[in-house]
Amino acid sequence: MVLAIKVTRLRGMYDITPDEVWIWQRLEQIITDLLSQYGYQEIRFPILEKTQLFHSAIGEVTDVVEKEMFTFETRKGESISMRPEGTASTVRAVLQNGMIFNDPQKLWYMGPMFRYEKPQKGRNRQFSQIGVEVFGYQGPDVDAELLLLTQRMWQALGLQKVRLEINSLGTQACRQAYRDVLIQFFEAHVEVLDDDAKSRLYTNPLRILDSKNPAIQAIVKKAPQINDYLSEQAQAHFNGLCEMLSACGVDYQINRNLVRGLDYYSHNVFEWVTEDLGAQGTICAGGRYDQLVEMQGGKPTPATGFAIGVDRLVELVKDLDLWQRSPDVDVYLIRDKAVSVQLGLQFAEQLRSTVAGLRMLTHMGQGSFKSQFKKADKSGARFAIILGENEIQHGVVGIKSLFDRSLEQTTMSVDDVTNFLKQQVS
Ligand code: ATP
Ligand code: MG
Repeated sequence: MVLAIKVTRLRGMYDITPDEVWIWQRLEQIITDLLSQYGYQEIRFPILEKTQLFHSAIGEVTDVVEKEMFTFETRKGESISMRPEGTASTVRAVLQNGMIFNDPQKLWYMGPMFRYEKPQKGRNRQFSQIGVEVFGYQGPDVDAELLLLTQRMWQALGLQKVRLEINSLGTQACRQAYRDVLIQFFEAHVEVLDDDAKSRLYTNPLRILDSKNPAIQAIVKKAPQINDYLSEQAQAHFNGLCEMLSACGVDYQINRNLVRGLDYYSHNVFEWVTEDLGAQGTICAGGRYDQLVEMQGGKPTPATGFAIGVDRLVELVKDLDLWQRSPDVDVYLIRDKAVSVQLGLQFAEQLRSTVAGLRMLTHMGQGSFKSQFKKADKSGARFAIILGENEIQHGVVGIKSLFDRSLEQTTMSVDDVTNFLKQQVS
């Protein structure tokens, strides 16, 4: 008797099985190929960081730091956290590795992020982001390039209805002036504010602008707008971006209430939004964060970037049925009873060595022809190759298409089969 204990996965975290993993792989491939084409380089950093990093880089009064982090103590009592996003770690890493002392950098990362949120469609506790961070460019040219790059990504994925919203938060000085009038405005409407908004009123009043509460949304419509508080230089930066986008054929809408959840943004911020996902429609978000490097102890370095929510893109591809799965296997190797297991393995190895990129499953163990063909069909392989005793003596094998009826069962020399497969695989 075995004492069985069935343990299930954690809430808000998911397994990605082969049925679905092909979508993730194709999506990641398309996006990372485009990143290379624009000259961006990959950076990898740890999943765990000192909690302090996120407090200082993301900001104390943010959803992420206040209530969403997976934080715990090490055996020595040090507070560490699972990364909830990638910008803080990228900044730490480029500083720690001396990467932006003299040189600009165009970097990307990909991987799981962790936030203790209420799980729902498009909102998981472990989710994947592909992020880009650029250091050492004032913009707005590089900001425009980031938006061109993301637009090209949506096109390459086959997404049509995605909308770009942009705004400018100006410099810190602009935001300070705006903050003060905003506080006055919301003080005059304090009866409408919910607890969340009240708690932000004096610490992070800009966040009230993107409240989802309908009553608050109604008064936000009458609130003073950031663009009246932008300095000339901030206005010029934003206008420059808008002009470049128009010239390059990127459609956008200016949304004056777009503020982004994290504290470190300045100048342009943006979101790509789809209507096809319901409430969790933001698939990519980012903006400029010129102060952050200095705040983290580096010399002043302009910076800009974005993060894509990969889980949400996968949902979109599935919901809209955008892609067809292509076969994972080219050949399933079937063996006559009289052909030894070793001979099968040797033949498969020889084919793998001569046909570059061939994806082949070899039948394991014994089994009648009928059951082997059944398994071959189920594997999704395009062709079955049949090793029979007689054939082997004459240096030939049987081959038959499974996926469609393009090739009836025929006999070919090993050389011919090799050449045929080379054509099929290339
Ligand atoms: P939201 O307003 O949806 O909570 P956010 O402002 O917290 O988003 P960012 O920190 O800007 O999100 O992260 C960038 C992107 O990562 C989001 O636009 C979204 O696509 C994705 N993302 C963020 N949190 C989650 C999550 N819990 N599950 C899945 N994707 C997420
Ligand atoms: Mg969030």
